[in-house]
Amino acid sequence: MGTTFDPSKRVFAGPSYDTFSKAYPRIKNIVLKANEHRYEKYNTRLSKNDFRSMIQCSNTACKEGGFEIYIILNELYHKELKEGKGTLLCIGHEPMGRSSSRRCFNSMDYEMAIEYISEKTKS
Ligand SMILES: [Zn+2]
Repeated sequence: MGTTFDPSKRVFAGPSYDTFSKAYPRIKNIVLKANEHRYEKYNTRLSKNDFRSMIQCSNTACKEGGFEIYIILNELYHKELKEGKGTLLCIGHEPMGRSSSRRCFNSMDYEMAIEYISEKTKS
């Protein structure tokens, strides 16, 4: 889509607990597990206390990359789903020369599990 990526416009600020709780007040617990098979980076794990909107790409040549896990979170949260899994593609690119680049081919398999604060007890 060729537009310049500006991370500051797309992330909810910072990895702090307060920020997360304000953005997602109905979440009691969350666990994200992720694996980047191409770079053999396994078992990345985030919970509510250290959740952040992006996971860094492990490709050292990658610029402005990362995995937009907040998109998954927003979708699950909006639908009140407890689990989601799939594959995310890195949004970064690899510089190939002075003015050209190719997209980063890194991908990440993820599993997200959310526990909600229940307002009513279901029997
Ligand atoms: Zn990347």
